[in-house]
Amino acid sequence: MMDVVIIGGGASGMATAIRASLNGAKVTIIEKNNKLGKKLLVTGNGRCNFWNKEQDLNKYHSQNIEIFKEIYDLKKDEVLKFFDDLGIVYQEINGYYYPVSNQAITIVEALMRKIEKLGIRIIYNEEVLKIKKDNNKFVILTDKNKYEALKVVIATGSIASINDEYLGYQISQELGHNITNLYPSLVQVKGKDSYYNKWNGVRAKAKLSLIVDNNIIKEEMGEVQFTDYGLSGICLFNLSGLINDYLNNNKEVLININLVPWFNNSKDEFKKYLTNLSNKLDYTLKDILEGFLNYKLVRVILDLNNIKDDIKWNDVKQDKVIDYLMNFLFRVLETKDFRDAQVVRGGIFLNEVNSKTLESKKVDNLYFTGEILDVDGICGGYNLGFAWMSALLVGDSIND
Ligand SMILES: Cc1cc2nc3c(=O)[nH]c(=O)nc-3n(C[C@H](O)[C@H](O)[C@H](O)COP(=O)(O)OP(=O)(O)OC[C@H]3O[C@@H](n4cnc5c(N)ncnc54)[C@H](O)[C@@H]3O)c2cc1C
Repeated sequence: MMDVVIIGGGASGMATAIRASLNGAKVTIIEKNNKLGKKLLVTGNGRCNFWNKEQDLNKYHSQNIEIFKEIYDLKKDEVLKFFDDLGIVYQEINGYYYPVSNQAITIVEALMRKIEKLGIRIIYNEEVLKIKKDNNKFVILTDKNKYEALKVVIATGSIASINDEYLGYQISQELGHNITNLYPSLVQVKGKDSYYNKWNGVRAKAKLSLIVDNNIIKEEMGEVQFTDYGLSGICLFNLSGLINDYLNNNKEVLININLVPWFNNSKDEFKKYLTNLSNKLDYTLKDILEGFLNYKLVRVILDLNNIKDDIKWNDVKQDKVIDYLMNFLFRVLETKDFRDAQVVRGGIFLNEVNSKTLESKKVDNLYFTGEILDVDGICGGYNLGFAWMSALLVGDSIND
């Protein structure tokens, strides 16, 4: 019989194993891949953005955000020390933390080194199919073997960016846990219109506002990628997790794109600005717009307004053009699916776990860490942030 078995050797599984072992637990990790930390290697475009200096609750999402706050308050100040103690040297760039090597493998290898030094047992290439509670012990069935353990940590991550079967939710449900609705988050968004091939490949700074029932739900500013299916880019990703819930409730979802976020004044002021520019330069509208907007975006705006290339500003419906520049309405069809998403919005309800230990309220000695729980964050190191915080919490409480 094993003491503590961690199902999944990703970010949170590895960190939990180290912390629990440092606290004296005898730990085994069961991982379905042939190595640990596979997803970690692709994070931050291979650089692993593992934390963010700006730690605000509003960077995270959960249906039980007040429970998340308790977890966060307990562990957010311990994360960087954990990495210091692994010997990782890191750098902060605009609040984002990366290893100075700029390589995710530095983080994975540092975790591995510690795991090996602590003598933590790893069972590779076995997928856990089912976990049963039998009196005071757990019976863990994999595709190859059967194990017994006193305590189990489910650290199987989420279905995001997974190509094969994912059993984490099913295993947890069979143990009596409930899962919130699940949605792809940090994911690209497809639109309903047919002109996207004209703006395909453009990257431009813009302000995006998610609009439902004429209300602004959330705003983000940054580089937007205009693609042949719709929109992508970090600021779009940060809105994406909200979209599917509205669509499922038959709401129309719009993204208002301000293509001139550098102009901080009103529409009337912008109209005056363009009128002055046009009078001064005596150019066509196309030439004027191309002075500050990517030519492909100019093409889209001119075509949608039926404006020929030789037409001047004074000869068009100016308010309409201003609307397209400052309030371009992108009609959302859907987000891309889980396979394309960086994370999943939703997971095991936080009110089914003890916020001070992350032990299940339904099954004694069962714990959860990481993305399988109903917590997700925006881009910037927040999702790994939760993986570490939850791992440290379980690692510190599992021996009590
Ligand atoms: C492309 C991409 C880029 C990202 N970049 C960032 C970033 O820069 N910063 C950031 O904060 N977050 C980033 N994320 C999100 C981050 O990687 C995850 O939130 C984080 O890895 C979750 O940690 P976890 O331990 O919960 O799950 P994971 O790290 O996914 O680990 C789960 C482990 O469990 C194993 N497993 C699953 N089911 C079973 C089973 N039944 N039996 C045995 N083993 C099993 C899996 O093989 C895996 O090794 C990114 C995600 C993606 C996809």
